[in-house]
Amino acid sequence: MINVSQLSKKFGDLAVLKEINFEVAKGEIVVIIGPSGTGKSTLLRCLNYLETPTTGKITIGPASIDAVDHKAKDITELRKQSSFVFQNYSLFANKTALQNVAESLITVWKTPKQEALSTAETILVKVGLAEKLDVYPSQLSGGQQQRVGIARAMAAKGEVILFDEPTSALDPEWVDEVLAVMKQLAFEKQTMIVVTHEMQFAKEVADRVIFMEDGYIVEQGAPQQIFTNPQHKRTQAFVKRAL
Ligand code: ATP
Ligand code: MG
Repeated sequence: MINVSQLSKKFGDLAVLKEINFEVAKGEIVVIIGPSGTGKSTLLRCLNYLETPTTGKITIGPASIDAVDHKAKDITELRKQSSFVFQNYSLFANKTALQNVAESLITVWKTPKQEALSTAETILVKVGLAEKLDVYPSQLSGGQQQRVGIARAMAAKGEVILFDEPTSALDPEWVDEVLAVMKQLAFEKQTMIVVTHEMQFAKEVADRVIFMEDGYIVEQGAPQQIFTNPQHKRTQAFVKRAL
C-alpha cells in the first residue's frame, strides 16, 4: 500500500537520505529506530511532502508522486493520504480540541461542518477526552494535547498515520496514556509508521522494525529479530545501547 523507491534527500551538499527503499502493507505497524541525526524525521517528512525529496518515488494508497517529475496536484493528493503526529503536538492554539480535530475534515475533505464536528467528537471520546471537547490546547496537559494530536490524525482519513517521537516531549507521567492510544490504534490495524525511542513499545507493538543509520536503512525485520538477533554490527551496537 505504501511504496518508497530510491528516495534521497539533500540539504545543500548534505546527503541526509540515501537510496531509501521500503514497502508497508495495509494494517502494518512499522517502527523506525536509529541514532540522532540519521534522517528519521526527514524520511517521515518526505512521505508527507513537508520536505521535498531530491529524488525518488512515493506511493501511498491511490496517490503516487515522482520527486523529479510531478504536478502540484500530485502533492495535494499525496498529502491527503497521510497525517502527522508531531513531537510538540502542533495544535492550533486558537481552536478548541473539537475544532482542531474537525479542521482537516472541513478544509481538506470538504465535509459539512456539523458532520465534521460530530465525527471529531466521536474520535475525541475514543481517545478519552469526552470532557475536553471545548477546551483550548493551553488548558490541556501534555498527554491530553498529544491525544488531541492523535485524534486529529485519526480524523484525517489518510491511509497511514506518521508519528515522529510522539512521546519524547512529554513528562514521564503522560507517556503511558499516549502509548495506550497508539496501542489501541495498532490493535485496530491502523497502518502506522512510528519513529520512537520507546523500545518497549517497538517490541510489543511493531510488526516490523527498521533500523536507520547515516541516511540508510541498515537492517529491518521482526522486532524479535532486530532486538535479540540483529545481523548487522551497527544494529547490534545500537540495540545494545538502547535496551
Ligand atoms: P533525531 O533522532 O535527533 O530526531 P533524526 O534521525 O530525526 O534525528 P533528522 O532530523 O532527519 O534526523 O536530520 C538528519 C540530518 O539532516 C541532520 O544532520 C540534520 O542536521 C539535517 N537537517 C534536518 N533538517 C534540515 C534542514 N531543514 N536544513 C538543513 N539540514 C537539515
Ligand atoms: Mg527526528
